[in-house]
Amino acid sequence: MSARRSVTILGATGSVGRSTLDLIGRDPERFEMVALTAGRDVEGLVELARRFRPRLAVIGDEGAHSRLSDGLAGTGIETAAGAEAIVEAAGSGADWTMAAIVGTAGLKPALRALEGGGTLAFANKEALVSAGELMMRVATATGATLLPVDSEHNAIFQCFDRERPGSVRRIILTASGGPFRERSRDEMRRVTPAEAVAHPNWSMGAKISVDCATLMNKGLELIEAYHLFPLGIDAIDIVVHPQSVIHSLVEYVDGSVLAQLGAPDMRIPIAYTLAWPDRMETPCERLDLVKIGSLDFEAPDEIRFPALGLARAALAQGGAKPAILNAANEIGVASFLESRIGFLDIAAVVGEVLAACDPPAPTSIDEVLEIDRQARRVAAEIAGKFSF
Ligand code: NDP
Ligand code: MG
Repeated sequence: MSARRSVTILGATGSVGRSTLDLIGRDPERFEMVALTAGRDVEGLVELARRFRPRLAVIGDEGAHSRLSDGLAGTGIETAAGAEAIVEAAGSGADWTMAAIVGTAGLKPALRALEGGGTLAFANKEALVSAGELMMRVATATGATLLPVDSEHNAIFQCFDRERPGSVRRIILTASGGPFRERSRDEMRRVTPAEAVAHPNWSMGAKISVDCATLMNKGLELIEAYHLFPLGIDAIDIVVHPQSVIHSLVEYVDGSVLAQLGAPDMRIPIAYTLAWPDRMETPCERLDLVKIGSLDFEAPDEIRFPALGLARAALAQGGAKPAILNAANEIGVASFLESRIGFLDIAAVVGEVLAACDPPAPTSIDEVLEIDRQARRVAAEIAGKFSF
């Protein structure tokens, strides 16, 4: 990388945010920190801001502002609090912004970063699921560069011939299958949040870990892929690959298939976006194919994991359905993590909310957010009826 790159990280205290900062911390001269944001973790944000010295640190929780400014007193780092302040931080004009807030809470900030026309490294899949059309339209209008961070989409981005999209026949998303790949429905009924959060290959935040266990993550990724790459729904396949070594594949019309491989470490796709269009060194484990020995593949089981079919149907129906799917899932996952519903109830809640809500297609971000609010309300009511 040549010129110094100015960087903002939305969701700095999370798993993706910290992995991004880990890479930046190994080569600090190349980056100039503009803003770091967090939701509620003031101590984490103070510690990161003291170490990485951004111009601005923002906490979503307004009640935590004084703790943030006390923690950063004497450093010269500006502080702010509240959802609107995070949106403003996203518009602070950094060359490169990481969108790593979890859930639709990240939608407005990601959109503001796209409006600025810079480079957006995009991890926050829920925003793209809820408002994919609108976000892609803004990116096209402002000329912003959208670089996928999600490992599958990053793999596809690396293999996809963007100059000749017509030469691509299909893309194949790989799925690890999560921690319950071999469990029966009956066994899954009793799993605890701690078991669901313990992913066999990747270390991630709680919400996405549960999504991996239900396979909703792959459903959200199907919708994400649909928006990021110019292919129809039928040209996106999913294959379960338990080792998480092949991160996804692109098949061309001549039968050639290109894949991106690597250790299951998010710092690899993050580094790709951080250095793009160049490459940078990472401390990540190197792939040792001989040590791995063999790679396995199987079809996803949509009967044991109904979330995948729900996501596919929501994408096929289009309109407000993907936003409803996402909102209901966020409530389902949160309810499960608080031990208020069982593991299998997550997809059941999503299915019921999708059946109960049928608003018209959104035409603006405010309409998406209204659909999101309504669907969350219905999901909370439905989740409340499940006894656990
Ligand atoms: P984490 O839960 O680890 O981190 C989420 C971040 O978002 C934290 O900084 C958190 O702040 C912040 N946040 C949460 N709620 C709000 C809010 N209401 N307002 C402002 N900030 C908020 O999540 P991950 O890092 O695992 O995931 C981030 C995104 O990246 C998700 O969309 C996920 O699907 C996607 N992703 C993650 C991967 C991974 O390996 N982890 C892989 C591929 C995609 P605080 O710490 O203060 O709560
Ligand atoms: Mg992924």
